[in-house]
Amino acid sequence: MAELKDIFECERCGYCCQGETTVSLDEDDQKRMVAALNLSREEVAEKYWRITGNVVQMKIVDGHCIFYDEGCTVHQGRPWRCAQWPLHPSMLSDENNFKTIRESCPGINQKIDYEAFCKLLTELMEQQAKIHC
Ligand code: SF4
Ligand code: SF4
Repeated sequence: MAELKDIFECERCGYCCQGETTVSLDEDDQKRMVAALNLSREEVAEKYWRITGNVVQMKIVDGHCIFYDEGCTVHQGRPWRCAQWPLHPSMLSDENNFKTIRESCPGINQKIDYEAFCKLLTELMEQQAKIHC
């Protein structure tokens, strides 16, 4: 049976938590984050979110997500897109996307070829509705 570590083990390099924007949080993400932080929604919004119209993202501090501190400090409450990263299903249909993501994420097994990677990721996706890394 395929195991996550066959294709990915996070090296906590922090690359995916850096930049001038973050992923956006859907309604479920917002509720999960509020619950994980054990604060009111208003407090979480004030302290941690950047809200632009209907779009809720996390604030950026010093060029990285406000929750990044040598790892994710809101791990249980992180947005689903963070939990899914870097194993985005689009890699299964686009080898260039796979190569681009693998170049940016040292946690992806750098030794296996694309065909083997797709086979393992497909198996993992069949085992779980959503892959959470
Ligand atoms: S998911 Fe990849 S890019 Fe992000 S911290 Fe882990 S190893 Fe680094
Ligand atoms: S919520 Fe966590 S995993 Fe997502 S960008 Fe922020 S620090 Fe990184």
